[in-house]
Amino acid sequence: MRNPDAVIVGGGVIGCATAYFLAAERGMRSVIVERDAVASGASGGSAGELGAVGRHRFSAAFTRFLLEGIRLHMETAEALTAEAGMDYLLSDIPILRPALTEEEAEELQEQMGWQRELGVEVEWLDADAARAVGSWLAPDALGAAYTMEKQLEGATFAVALAQACERRGVEIRTAEANGVLREGGRACGVTLADGGSVTAGAVLVANGPWSQQAGEWLGMEVPVIPLRGQIVHLAPPPGVPMPTHSIFHRTGYVLPKAGGDLLAGTTEERAGFAPYPTPEAQLGIMEAVARFAPQVLDAPIQSQTACLRPYSLDEMPILGAVPGTDGLHLATGHGYKGITLSLITGKRMAQLIAEGTTHESIAEFSPARFAPGR
Ligand SMILES: Cc1cc2nc3c(=O)[nH]c(=O)nc-3n(C[C@H](O)[C@H](O)[C@H](O)COP(=O)(O)OP(=O)(O)OC[C@H]3O[C@@H](n4cnc5c(N)ncnc54)[C@H](O)[C@@H]3O)c2cc1C
Repeated sequence: MRNPDAVIVGGGVIGCATAYFLAAERGMRSVIVERDAVASGASGGSAGELGAVGRHRFSAAFTRFLLEGIRLHMETAEALTAEAGMDYLLSDIPILRPALTEEEAEELQEQMGWQRELGVEVEWLDADAARAVGSWLAPDALGAAYTMEKQLEGATFAVALAQACERRGVEIRTAEANGVLREGGRACGVTLADGGSVTAGAVLVANGPWSQQAGEWLGMEVPVIPLRGQIVHLAPPPGVPMPTHSIFHRTGYVLPKAGGDLLAGTTEERAGFAPYPTPEAQLGIMEAVARFAPQVLDAPIQSQTACLRPYSLDEMPILGAVPGTDGLHLATGHGYKGITLSLITGKRMAQLIAEGTTHESIAEFSPARFAPGR
């Protein structure tokens, strides 16, 4: 391969989506440097829900970006599935966000106000209407906010993206990056832990929570921490059909996947770089979920997974050019929403790398906010 146009550190959904759009829309060739395996991080262990609504109140810019991200998933799915030769089961899922107390009902209805203003379609269901939709919902739920959202199979999606990249000529190299090569104030590649290097026209660092450690190579602080999330994988109780809806409460969620898995989640743990499941988390998740979906107590546990969200300390992704070095870019900090935002991030980062222009939808997420005076 002649010198590639870009080298991308990280083979999660963010790195792969950028390589995909560089190839598909810009005709540019890239090398992804991944030290483990594609989808080995949070990209392979997510719940795969595509949502703009959360228990966290995101900024207006972030919510608009999420909605844009969901639209792009819908526009891209057919072509991506065909190119990858893998169906990652993008499908509709009704979601109930129940109130178990009057206080929660007020909070949810207040949230619905600003969510609607930002273009989220959300409706309040009273107790009877909520139970008519949600057969697994606790009988004492007072009502629920209702949305129709999208979901996909997270790990399959991540692998499909990588597969589509390879079919378009992207090289995925197993190696660990440990620095950025510079020449005349411009990034021209990365150095590797095995002593080698990859030279390229531009560099993108998209290595999830480990971007914190890449701050040294970038010459700026990257305030991203690993926020561990665990998921308990269940089967429906014997003789009970899979629920046809998901329930998200402030304490947890239960999510039936189109592929047959039933997920109960999750945790938000500041436990360092330790992507390991724990018995305490399993207990905590099952207790929380049982409060709003008591049927989970009869659901046999199949397995448990843990992985690390790249959590940005101001809860916004960090996307754009790194101040001070031409051709150096960063895409990280997607937190709870990296699957939802993967394709739109890839498309916008590909534009930035190809044209040098920042699309307005990512302007607020610039790394420059953490590099004052540069
Ligand atoms: C339990 C859980 C559930 C989730 N559910 C959802 C959901 O329903 N919807 C949603 O939108 N989001 C969800 N997320 C969030 C989403 O999974 C993440 O935001 C997203 O996967 C982050 O992708 P990434 O590519 O930035 O990072 P990662 O997937 O972490 O990929 C980074 C990659 O970089 C590699 N790497 C690191 N350092 C180096 C180096 N020096 N050299 C080479 N390679 C390196 C790693 O091996 C890794 O493969 C969930 C997360 C968790 C933990």
